[in-house]
Amino acid sequence: MAKGPVVAIDGPAGAGKSTVARAVAQRLGCMYLDSGAMYRAIALAALRSGVVLDDAAELERLAAGADVTLREGQGGGSRVLLGGEDVTEAVRSPQVEEAVPRVSGVPGVRAVLIAAQRRLAEAGGVVMDGRDIGRVVLPQADCKVYLTADLEVRVRRRYLQLRERGRDADLEEVGRELARRDRWDRDQMVQAPDATEIDTTHLGVEQTVERILALCPGGARRAGN
Ligand code: C5P
Repeated sequence: MAKGPVVAIDGPAGAGKSTVARAVAQRLGCMYLDSGAMYRAIALAALRSGVVLDDAAELERLAAGADVTLREGQGGGSRVLLGGEDVTEAVRSPQVEEAVPRVSGVPGVRAVLIAAQRRLAEAGGVVMDGRDIGRVVLPQADCKVYLTADLEVRVRRRYLQLRERGRDADLEEVGRELARRDRWDRDQMVQAPDATEIDTTHLGVEQTVERILALCPGGARRAGN
């Protein structure tokens, strides 16, 4: 049986990756996998066990021993499990948000999660979003997209997303947090040379989804659905 497509969607925080990736997966009949949630789960495990975030060797050990995986949730969402516990909501806390770039900057942590992400995509039929999917995790992906947007727009989207989740967000604080994450994540955020860049500053979700579908094998006939 032919494998389903493998789609890689990368870009900085607030570029709209998760919303768009989920919609693309639904239209292609694929599973949506949120790779960032796996880094967040390791950050959560580190906070829970009191590991010092500067201790790379300890973080690496923690990642190697942690059982982190993703599975499809209701409505095509991506759920993250840590030792079998569903921590999808817990990994969105401000504490995890602050800790995650420090955890994801440790090469040993990345090696463990990259191997796990490759296993999850092995059977095909997946849309995975992140920072390094097209370049490092799934360089053989059938379709690679790099989403960008002006910082101001990313800040506003992130702010609205937090408010939707019932969080008491402050626009300026969100701006500082995003700029801080951009700085920490810079090393991971290198666009794959064969990725198509889509600037979503002036694009809505549906327009972005249509553009991606047009680039995916079998996606053109699902565009406009
Ligand atoms: O996508 P999200 O904002 O949830 O990712 C959380 C963090 O996980 C990022 O800020 C980054 O530090 C890390 N990450 C990564 N590589 C990925 C996905 C996320 O380093 N593929």
